[in-house]
Amino acid sequence: MVDINSFLEDREKQNTLRILHPVEKRKGCKVFINNHWFVDFSSNDYLGLSTYKKNYSYIKKILNKYGTGAVASRLLSGDLLIHHILEERTACFKKKEACLIFNSGYQANVGIISALYSNKDVIFLDRLSHASLIDGALLSGAKLLRFNHNDLNHLELLLKKERPNYKNALIVTESVFSMDGDFAPLKEIVELKEKYSCELLVDEAHATGIYGENGCGLVDELGLTDKVELIMGTYSKALASFGSYLATTEKIKKYLINTSRSFIYSTAMPPIVVACILKNLEISIKEKWRREKVKKLAAIFRQKLQNSNISVKGDSQINVVIIGENKEVIETSDLLKKKKFWVLPIRPPTVPKGQSRIRISITANHDEFIINKLADEIIKILK
Ligand SMILES: *Cc1c(COP(=O)(O)O)cnc(C)c1O
Repeated sequence: MVDINSFLEDREKQNTLRILHPVEKRKGCKVFINNHWFVDFSSNDYLGLSTYKKNYSYIKKILNKYGTGAVASRLLSGDLLIHHILEERTACFKKKEACLIFNSGYQANVGIISALYSNKDVIFLDRLSHASLIDGALLSGAKLLRFNHNDLNHLELLLKKERPNYKNALIVTESVFSMDGDFAPLKEIVELKEKYSCELLVDEAHATGIYGENGCGLVDELGLTDKVELIMGTYSKALASFGSYLATTEKIKKYLINTSRSFIYSTAMPPIVVACILKNLEISIKEKWRREKVKKLAAIFRQKLQNSNISVKGDSQINVVIIGENKEVIETSDLLKKKKFWVLPIRPPTVPKGQSRIRISITANHDEFIINKLADEIIKILK
């Protein structure tokens, strides 16, 4: 075993020790923790669907129909009709030929990349990509090259130099970056992928439900759906449930059913989870005001901080104020906790050293009053 004592002491000293804080209950945008209600700005419940109560009768019906779990892998008797319904709906929602569901975004990225690429191939990955994308690339055995975040010149430099040495090539990026809230230059990345004959995987974990027609995603908003071979996203963020999907071709789906280890060697998603996703997907498509409200509130919030000369990053519902050192970011978060705002510090290794930050994610359950109050508190602390 590794030296646990010195690891824990080290993390403690560097103010990067991670600890858990159990939420006792959740109501709209509020969480009850340690005997206090806080306004939660650390969730990914962007559309505010997690505690939306109108859909429980359908979920009970599904519970009665299938029982509490899928009780086997999809390749055994765990393949339920409701999984196929969700896959059809998601393919339609994402405007792709087919869709394959995975038990989580992490499992999808690991299972997709490692099944489709091997040690004869090369993967170009945005440096700020989610850990699951990096792990998938590492597991594939392909040569892994990271380009500087959203840096097209750097990406092209690497493509020019390295693409000819490998058989297949994949470019990997997120459409909305989880810890920076900014967009990838997808149009330009698509041009590069075509110029250098690569394939493209876009992770839409934070764009699903928010951008594009019906919340389809940023790839759709930019009209690029037909040009991206692999579009993955999750049901766990704006759709407020659990699990993930890959939207792609029938052929790739068929191949992954036969080869993707995280798909094959894991029990299928529980039917009540699928029922929650189906309901939330339906509501998210119908209630357009939710995604409009999130975007409007985020713009107001950023403007307010910028008016006070506080530098805030993000083009989306995710807003980031970089504080720098771990100690300071923890102090900022603690001061906000005193004012009953749940804004957690984001530290290395999740983000680069010296760039510790607070990440404020805005949801449809927030309102203008509460957003302004949080902005005022942040301004007071940082001035
Ligand atoms: C959250 C996230 C994932 C993982 O999804 P889970 O369903 O939580 O496992 C993958 N990629 C990105 C960009 C994410 O933000």
